[in-house]
Amino acid sequence: MASINRNSWLSHLCPDEYYERVEAIAPERLWERGIRGLILDLDNTLVKYHEHHVNSELLRWFDRVKSQGITCCILSNNHRRRRINRIADKLGVQFVARAGKPRRRPFLTAMHMLNTDRHSTAVIGDQVFTDVLGGKRSGLYTVLIQPRSSRDFIGTRVMRCFETGIVRYLTTRGYVRLVTGHE
Ligand SMILES: [Mg+2]
Repeated sequence: MASINRNSWLSHLCPDEYYERVEAIAPERLWERGIRGLILDLDNTLVKYHEHHVNSELLRWFDRVKSQGITCCILSNNHRRRRINRIADKLGVQFVARAGKPRRRPFLTAMHMLNTDRHSTAVIGDQVFTDVLGGKRSGLYTVLIQPRSSRDFIGTRVMRCFETGIVRYLTTRGYVRLVTGHE
């Protein structure tokens, strides 16, 4: 795989890994990488935008992550605290709502909750301009995943057009490769 110039602005938008969906990420590989805490986006990463439903495959994935010894925290820009609380309860994880990603502060707050540092924390999310950029600015390992649905918050839909172009550029140049669930 081609390596990106770490000093270029594009490197802040280039995830370290790119997966089709969150359940395809092997917790054992994260552990081997030294990851002990996960900061997870909510909408279109764990559940579809506006949904409460947590599917059984995701619950099983969280069980695997936890039994690997990795702790998790949801970090969402969404303002609907009660909804996030319900989902976080089902998954048995902590959360931060109204986070304001890609600012660095919410990532520091999440790491404080996880009791991890930037070397032992990874960010997983479906958006380049919030999850990847915020994670990179905070010096964290970043994993981009494909959104669970095409439904989005209106502001996100505009950004999504630019993000799609950036991800296409990064994949065609070989800076990142999409890993599907079947590998
Ligand atoms: Mg999202």
